[in-house]
Amino acid sequence: MTTIADVLDSMTVEGELYEALDDQALRCFACGHRCLIRPGRRGICQVRFNRDGKLQVPWGYVAALQSDPIEKKPLFHVYPGAEALTFGMLGCDFHCAYCQNHLTSQALRDPASDLAVSLVRRISPEAMVELAKRSGAEVIASSYNEPLITSEWAVSIFHKAVQAGLKCVYISNGNATPEVLAYLRPYLSAYRIDLKTMQDRHYRSLGGVLQHVLDTIQGAHDLGLWVEVVTLVVPGFNDTTDELMDAARFIASVSPEIPWHVTAFHPDYKMTDPPPTSVRTLLRAAEIGQEAGLNYVYAGNLPGRMGEYESTYCPACREKVIERYSFVIKDYRLTAQGDCPKCGTHIPGLWSAHPERVRLNGFGMPRAIY
Ligand code: SF4
Repeated sequence: MTTIADVLDSMTVEGELYEALDDQALRCFACGHRCLIRPGRRGICQVRFNRDGKLQVPWGYVAALQSDPIEKKPLFHVYPGAEALTFGMLGCDFHCAYCQNHLTSQALRDPASDLAVSLVRRISPEAMVELAKRSGAEVIASSYNEPLITSEWAVSIFHKAVQAGLKCVYISNGNATPEVLAYLRPYLSAYRIDLKTMQDRHYRSLGGVLQHVLDTIQGAHDLGLWVEVVTLVVPGFNDTTDELMDAARFIASVSPEIPWHVTAFHPDYKMTDPPPTSVRTLLRAAEIGQEAGLNYVYAGNLPGRMGEYESTYCPACREKVIERYSFVIKDYRLTAQGDCPKCGTHIPGLWSAHPERVRLNGFGMPRAIY
């Protein structure tokens, strides 16, 4: 019987993010797990494996491909209103019980994987870039599963995308290594990182290590990538005032300019017990972010109920410089240099040099590409 692993193993190439060890063993450093993989064995992510002393890695397919508003990533300080052609493969190095992309991320761990196989489409990097251009996208994003574990494929696409004038972004759990960040740096413009909890024991229950994620936030910022951080606020998991304050203070210690998105949890996948995050809890989280000194705090997943926390305000004069409703830009008032039109304060981020062309009241809805 052909398994999902058989199908995926036929779409691999030799990877670059590893070192060969004695006896045909190898060490992968595409993510913070740094798996030691012996011949014939797989890494924790299940999609990278050792064939005769060489690391085989996923290449040449997508399992999800969609054009989204970049606000959906969420990235709020990266070319507002832009369309992001977003692709994903299969597999993940974490196993979060509340995964919102479990069909792609957990495909190799779940019995429903037959369905995931039907999502797989072979495609070339050239065709991806062509699709982006044809669909009017200004950005290509790797998301839906954990992009770090398929970084060679992402770089194959990004290399051509950058040549074609597109910007490239990662939507990641932040379980990176200095080596993979250096590998991505020539192509990436922005890195959106999940900070899921400030308790290491909770991170370990999801398959991660807190310090790796904190190091990635610091490391990506130090490399000059534009970083935005997201914390999904899950009742009973990470929503105490102390924990949220720890998260906000850590981000502020890296830079108070890093946008922090606190987003509402909805019961999903294997985590169906906690109730959805209330408006009150989310507003409390956002206020904690401001109190910790962060200049840009956003509250998401509850459109129209988050008041000022959906829009961007100048931290100096409180002028509303970008007005949003959910993923839609209602008003865009930054100058071509990204400055506040009232007091001239620079708002950090990656901004359009042509503010008059920013898409207002745009689609706000994802568009399937297939
Ligand atoms: S990407 Fe991470 S989990 Fe997968 S093999 Fe490499 S180190 Fe292990």
